[in-house]
Amino acid sequence: MASLSARIVIRATNRELEIPTGLFIDNQFVPSVDSASEPIQAVNPSTEEPICSVVAGSAKDIDIAVAAARKAFNTTWGKNVTGFERSKLLNKLADLMERDQDILAEVESLNNGKPVKIARDFDIGDSIQCLRYYAGWADKITGQTIEVDNKTKLAFTKHDPIGVCGQIIPWNYPINMWAWKVGPALACGCTVVMKPSELTPLTALMLSKLIAEAGFPPGVVNTIPSLGSVGGAALSAHMDVDKVAFTGSTVTGRKIMEAAAKSNLKKVSLELGGKSPQIVFESADLDQAANWACLGILYNTGQDCTAGSRLYVQDTIYDKFISLLVSKAKELVIGDGFDEKSGGGPVVSKTQFDKVWRYIESGSTQGAKLALGGQKRPGKGFFVDPTIFTDINANMDIVRDEIFGPVLSVGRFKTEEEAISLANDTSYGLGAGLHSNDANQCMRVSSALEAGTVWVNQYNLLNNNVPFGGKKQSGIGRELGSYALEEYTSVKAVHWNFGEKLDWPL
Ligand code: NAD
Repeated sequence: MASLSARIVIRATNRELEIPTGLFIDNQFVPSVDSASEPIQAVNPSTEEPICSVVAGSAKDIDIAVAAARKAFNTTWGKNVTGFERSKLLNKLADLMERDQDILAEVESLNNGKPVKIARDFDIGDSIQCLRYYAGWADKITGQTIEVDNKTKLAFTKHDPIGVCGQIIPWNYPINMWAWKVGPALACGCTVVMKPSELTPLTALMLSKLIAEAGFPPGVVNTIPSLGSVGGAALSAHMDVDKVAFTGSTVTGRKIMEAAAKSNLKKVSLELGGKSPQIVFESADLDQAANWACLGILYNTGQDCTAGSRLYVQDTIYDKFISLLVSKAKELVIGDGFDEKSGGGPVVSKTQFDKVWRYIESGSTQGAKLALGGQKRPGKGFFVDPTIFTDINANMDIVRDEIFGPVLSVGRFKTEEEAISLANDTSYGLGAGLHSNDANQCMRVSSALEAGTVWVNQYNLLNNNVPFGGKKQSGIGRELGSYALEEYTSVKAVHWNFGEKLDWPL
């Protein structure tokens, strides 16, 4: 049985710390009620060494966490607390995250592999801002007054918290996805049962400790590390969960929607995969376009739902652009996240490593040409170097499937129409980018691209106040911005009669 905390030593920074490893229910770390539940092993993907083990929740633990969340919703949270109070607590949580940012960044790097400086400056920096952004919304969630008949009647709407939310998050941005989910849910007055990825449960447990320290009442946020097929499936099918919010693969998103449909028809929001295109037109600033293209596919070692994994380059600039791109991609150092020089870490797990290599091998066997990469590194760690394929065609697996690694497929086009058609030739619709110095072209192409987010002369940057989500098979619903509030509220219309008399019978 896993214990409720673990002492870990981070050799690179000489830091020793005690981290919670139990299930977090009612502001306490507790064991599983299921003695048969096998602990989850957290592994360092840079060294392949185990970090510690964490209690794994079973379906029975999910039941207990949901009951705690329901009780809190009905008593100390939900409609029983003012927006002002929710805002204060969210700001306090952001302050605590800021206080602990160095420790959180190191543990994030240890468990996920990403560079410490990126975890701190981007993942955590953005998460702090996200919590503060939603703290700002908490006392501004209002409905409308709707004129029905000036003399006798009016209607108004109330945006009530939807209730108990199951939140299932992935391993690519463990802290950031936690903040994106928890921020709007708590701002709206919902309670949460969070299921972090079984690969990266550590920082979600550390953040749970901060939830208690910030002063949130017991049961408002509960955290159950668990295998997806156990805890994730139980949450999605639970009859007393009002909403499930998910980020992860399209395959799992389908299962979640099916479970929601077969149980209580809970509200579902899904942020799924992608095979996002970037288009480089001949008028673009090529140096900048190459930088953004590299960021698009290499940021987070390509483990990014909006990874710009297909790149289409106009034939007049194709050769020049490819050599620029290859030289820039070579400059990125992929290494241990604790090495200051690393701009990218390993992929998260052996499973992911094997998956990425299967795709690299399929690219070669299906006839694409390697312009960069393709060599396995010796030694330990799930490292994959930047890999660029050219001479692609639309039927290749590397062009069709989400790889979730630093693997870019580059094609060429002659006309704008051809570029748009190649870009939209996918079942996904999460992100898309275009690089051009022709403003009319930017407007035409950004309108034609089938994606929830289109970047013009940049790529992969998101803002907490701008909505994010997918079209086609990339998802349902929107996160971030004021749009996320719709996912966590239920609109009630109240019809009020202050004068009309009903004559009866009709
Ligand atoms: P996944 O979708 O299976 O896992 C994401 C989360 O869903 C995890 O917390 C997992 O425990 C949970 N989960 C798994 N099965 C579940 C089920 N039946 N019901 C409810 N929850 C369940 O992703 P993965 O297997 O870790 O990775 C596989 C591929 O998914 C990756 O290679 C990548 O292509 C894609 N992916 C996408 C994102 C994204 O941000 N869009 C994130 C992670 C993975």
